[in-house]
Amino acid sequence: MQLNEMQLGLVQAQMKRLKEIPNGFYQKKYDGIDVIRDQADFEKLPFTNKEELRDAYPLGIAAVPDEEIVRIHSSSGTTGTPIIIPYTKQDVEDWAELFARCYRMAGITKKDRIHITPGYGLWTAGIGFQLGAEKLGAMAIPMGPGNTDKQIRMMQDMQSTVLCATSSYALLLAEEIEKRGIKDTIRLKKGVIGSERWGEKMRKRIAGELGVELYDIYGLTEIYGPGIGINCKDGSGMHYWDDFVYFEIIDPKTGELLPDGTYGELVITTLRKQGAPLIRYRTHDLTRILPEKCTCGSEFPRIDILIGRSDDMVKVKGVNIYPGQIEDVLRDIPGVSSEYQVMIDHLYGRDIMTLFFETEAGVDKEAVGLNVQREFKAKVGLTVVPKPVALGELPRSEKKSTRVYDNRY
Ligand code: ZN
Repeated sequence: MQLNEMQLGLVQAQMKRLKEIPNGFYQKKYDGIDVIRDQADFEKLPFTNKEELRDAYPLGIAAVPDEEIVRIHSSSGTTGTPIIIPYTKQDVEDWAELFARCYRMAGITKKDRIHITPGYGLWTAGIGFQLGAEKLGAMAIPMGPGNTDKQIRMMQDMQSTVLCATSSYALLLAEEIEKRGIKDTIRLKKGVIGSERWGEKMRKRIAGELGVELYDIYGLTEIYGPGIGINCKDGSGMHYWDDFVYFEIIDPKTGELLPDGTYGELVITTLRKQGAPLIRYRTHDLTRILPEKCTCGSEFPRIDILIGRSDDMVKVKGVNIYPGQIEDVLRDIPGVSSEYQVMIDHLYGRDIMTLFFETEAGVDKEAVGLNVQREFKAKVGLTVVPKPVALGELPRSEKKSTRVYDNRY
């Protein structure tokens, strides 16, 4: 998807400003780069990586004077130095507007009561949900995480209609409500779930047990926070707000731009951010741009739901393969469970990918194997060696990346 005229104008203005900021980070990064005249110029700009933001800790990335910064947020880095993102007043207002749009896209109105369970604090989750709710004019119920008894009590007493949560916490609450047999005292209609790679089975359980419609909301601390995209009622993919962010998809191994419809790593450019603008920021999230216009009629473009992280990707015979894709193929084949394991070997001068998967009792293993091979070739573009095994034979693992064993190096 090419930059439209408005987006190009915003990029040009932003680059001009960034090159003049006497803080080192942007000047150094864009030294020697001229005016961005067109798409080709833009695509020559270097990517921005998480490591650079980490190196700029604490406030090296600030693109405005101190007195214009009204708030900071930090990414919840698991190890080492965190990333600090400064926000101006306008950034906070813009984020609220983006988030309110997400709620509206999900059919949430100011009559709703929004029960917010993500954490408040340095990271962007709880505060983002709160900002959006207030901008929309809905009633925010700022719970934060934990204390299931209190969550349920407030949900009952306040008659919460929207639950904001991570998928795992939504599931925990759903199971608790089911266990206590109090479903008829709960008024939830919708769930807004922080977008991560989560299974269809989990989605069905949460939706079924709570009796709600689920929406995936997308975002990351480096780019405002949650609220830059969400799926609509028609459900396929997530719309994103292209008047504030520009999306590209690249091959995570080579950095080469990929055409719309092809899976790869999402790269985001902020178009209006003041405190910490980012140009071509590598998210490591894997998705694709959905080129068709959505059936809901919205003009905002869409990306597909996330299929994983680029760190989990492997390349076999020139084809990029992601754990999420493997799950998608297996999910649609009757008689096959969601458990799988992949071995990649280099034998006799070529790469061979062996796909172990569990089959339900009583199915014709050979026929299912051929089916898996055919579907994998059709959807991913690679011929695998199918190895059906009985249910329960493969080791269980929480982490998707440990299901792929690359024995080539
Ligand atoms: Zn739509």
